[in-house]
Amino acid sequence: MLFAPHLSWRNEPLREALSARLRLPVVVENDANAAAWAEWRFGAGAGESQLVMVNLGTGIGGAVIRDGSVERGRYGMAGEFGHMTVVPGGHRCPCGNRGCWEQYSSGNALVREARELAAAESPVAQPLLERAGGDPFAITGPLVTEAAREGDPVAVELLQEIGHWLGLGIANLAAALDPGRFVIGGGVSAAGNCCSARPGRRTGGT
Ligand SMILES: [Zn+2]
Repeated sequence: MLFAPHLSWRNEPLREALSARLRLPVVVENDANAAAWAEWRFGAGAGESQLVMVNLGTGIGGAVIRDGSVERGRYGMAGEFGHMTVVPGGHRCPCGNRGCWEQYSSGNALVREARELAAAESPVAQPLLERAGGDPFAITGPLVTEAAREGDPVAVELLQEIGHWLGLGIANLAAALDPGRFVIGGGVSAAGNCCSARPGRRTGGT
């Protein structure tokens, strides 16, 4: 483990440490890489030789699969799309930079925007705030999604904003990588097509 933006691990010998304790062979893989490979083997990416996975969770993970292999790059860091700069000088990111994609299109981004609006005592955020028992810090991603499903216009707008940034990043990835298919996974993708009456799908191609 060379670097983890959300954990304090730097050059951490994770596999050796686990293997010594478990006394079993251990394979360590980046979660988005594992998800992409699984989607290519068994899921929404099956049959596609040029696949890009975008994992929308608290942040954004990503991976590129070419002809059945995970693209690793020179240092094993390929596919860290969440840390592409989309807003120079924008929101600070735990990776140390500013304006990373995941600061605008992720679960954390959704919650930050919703809490900011509620903390600003905006009357439009009142219904969201009431759902959270009056505490802006009790607003969570699933709470915003549920409000959007039930037609709260502010919750819908907050999710549309996430979707706007998601589309922008995916368009850039399409220009750079020319994939045959994108697969979107991760907790935030469970919102699916949340502003229609149909329930969302966790994973789907675009
Ligand atoms: Zn970052």
